[in-house]
Amino acid sequence: MAYLSLKNINKIYPNGYHAVHNFNLDIEKGEFIVFVGPSGCGKSTTLRMIAGLEDISNGEFLINGKRANEMGPREREIAMVFQSYALYPQMTVYDNIAFGLTLQGVDEDIIEERVKKVAGILGLTDYLDRLPRALSGGQRQRVAIGRAIIRKVGVFLMDEPLSNLDAKQRVTMRYEIAQIHHETGATTIYVTHDQTEAMTLADRIVVMKDGYVQQIGTPYQLYYQPENVFVAGFIGEPPMNFIRGTVKNGAITFGDNVLELGKKLPSIAEYEGKEIVFGFRPEHIQLGQQDQAYTIRAKVELTEMLGDNTNIYVTADHDQAILKVDSHDTPETDIDIVFSIPFENVYLFDGKTEHVI
Ligand code: ADP
Repeated sequence: MAYLSLKNINKIYPNGYHAVHNFNLDIEKGEFIVFVGPSGCGKSTTLRMIAGLEDISNGEFLINGKRANEMGPREREIAMVFQSYALYPQMTVYDNIAFGLTLQGVDEDIIEERVKKVAGILGLTDYLDRLPRALSGGQRQRVAIGRAIIRKVGVFLMDEPLSNLDAKQRVTMRYEIAQIHHETGATTIYVTHDQTEAMTLADRIVVMKDGYVQQIGTPYQLYYQPENVFVAGFIGEPPMNFIRGTVKNGAITFGDNVLELGKKLPSIAEYEGKEIVFGFRPEHIQLGQQDQAYTIRAKVELTEMLGDNTNIYVTADHDQAILKVDSHDTPETDIDIVFSIPFENVYLFDGKTEHVI
């Protein structure tokens, strides 16, 4: 039996807006689940329904097999870390972390022991006497996390906890959140619009768009086996390149390029005359002509040298693409190049449904 179970969950707001459609997910104890998708896709709404802060319009939410739809937030034994840290400015770090336990009337000795333990995990031991205003953004976020993990609850919910931090702090905190999860083993559901955060933290990712789940899988599955154009384009940085075309005589033709799709897809016959999306990742190309690969001619518009690799922006007829190569192989701009995509690195999608073929 799954620890948490969302069965056909829907959210229709009082104004009639249908924000979440038939959300289904089973979560095992200790899993780190990330909800990812563009702003407005229903991530926070789903998280808030799990927390008990928002009613579930339709469907069932189970904790340990028990219906939890009607349980209050406390009864669910779930702690939430919000985007804004919401620390008490006049209280020390110690008192901020201890606050929940103090309210519950927990014994002082036990509180002290737990605050010290949590502070140790979060690297806050030397800051316990400080006020929040004397801390960096990253440290404040750690206090907010400390306040959640000091309560021995079964589930942590985090809603974009890193969004107020600068780029460098985000990377550090991301690592720390992974460490905290490793140490506490707590079931965690984490909301973000950032695919890198999702890929680096998650055991499993739920990709959402417009209130619908697009795909659920491990980072590896989402990267190598995307089920549709949206997931393929959302996971990976720079994103997957797409060329749209119509299949003619088993090939997509654009400009001087003829991509014989039959080599990748024996059943291409049924797509004759239909629209198809040809996808490939920037990092899967090789410069020059290769065997067992599609070859595309393109013009170099711009190069971005990023250290060990270079992003090459090219146009191939009217289509644009980004290619990622070893920076030693950076070409000149404005020249024509040829690059190859090994057959096994090509993704084909139905032009209409955008579902993988
Ligand atoms: P995300 O977390 O993915 O950015 P949200 O879950 O916050 O998205 O919102 C999903 C959709 O529901 C958005 O279009 C948002 O405008 C809408 N929404 C959120 N809260 C309410 C509300 N209280 N009433 C009506 N619509 C809402």
